[in-house]
Amino acid sequence: MSPATLIDGKRIAQDIRAEIAHAVAARKAQGKRAPGLAVVLVGDNPASQVYVGSKEKQAKEAGFAGGTLRLPATTTEAELLKVVEEYNRDPTIDGILVQLPLPKHINEDKIIHAIAPEKDVDGFHPVSQGNLLIGAPGFVPCTPKGILELLRRAKVETAGKHAVVLGRSNIVGKPMAALLVQKGVDCTVTLCHSRTKDLAAITRQADILIAAIGVAEFVHRDMVKPGATVIDVGMNRLTDGRLVGDVAYGEVREVAGAITPVPGGVGPMTISMLLKNTLESCERRG
Ligand code: NAP
Repeated sequence: MSPATLIDGKRIAQDIRAEIAHAVAARKAQGKRAPGLAVVLVGDNPASQVYVGSKEKQAKEAGFAGGTLRLPATTTEAELLKVVEEYNRDPTIDGILVQLPLPKHINEDKIIHAIAPEKDVDGFHPVSQGNLLIGAPGFVPCTPKGILELLRRAKVETAGKHAVVLGRSNIVGKPMAALLVQKGVDCTVTLCHSRTKDLAAITRQADILIAAIGVAEFVHRDMVKPGATVIDVGMNRLTDGRLVGDVAYGEVREVAGAITPVPGGVGPMTISMLLKNTLESCERRG
């Protein structure tokens, strides 16, 4: 069997960012305002600083307004709620993103719930998650939305296919399952987690296998049906410094039909979808 086709998330994400920049330039040419994205970073978590830096850079390159508010780790929950409230009221802001994790003394749920659902471009608010489940319009969390976009652009057939999702987190696994089962996508979905029995027997049935568990190189070739599409969400840093996914890429690409690499697969899509959600919000709000 010939090795799997590579699904190049880096290139696809670049294409999407170019499309977004084009749409923003067209808005401005019509005298309309640029989409406004407010990113809030509390504290100095090194990984969060990198993520926020990338979001800031890519938003700027796409012609967005807004910016990043960096607050000290000592910021209180009440102070952060006040910031969110101000952005909720600000007509130039279409999307609010509070970078997680927050310092331990701040209740993350309380902050997420305080973001106005019509500006919830991360898609973590219960209203957004509920809309996704019932198939109503709203914001879809960026990583699952990016994965669906990857499948579409890589021309992977979804209708009637069996999709197996590994991981049931609220930010990846559950919304991914909800998206795949929607009318128009039409997968038959199995959602697995750490208590799932005989996992390999289930993953071997997958036409589309999506791994989002955070365990380095967990999915081996004997867990994959020949010809399946394998999407690797995992980002795991090994002790030697290498970044690997949840899929043993070298061996799985020998059996899969198509596969995303790590890095350069799902990761680059996430910020592109954040920009897309913010542009959609701006267009909806006028
Ligand atoms: P999470 O909140 O830690 O959830 C992990 C899920 O995997 C849980 O549902 C857990 O089951 C399940 N799980 C853990 N070990 C398992 C096993 N051995 N067999 C079956 N299921 C298992 O993780 P997350 O936030 O969804 O992230 C998952 C991975 O994706 C991480 O590597 C993260 O870094 C990466 N990620 C990447 C992006 C991106 O943009 N590329 C975005 C988000 C996350 P239980 O519920 O039973 O505990």
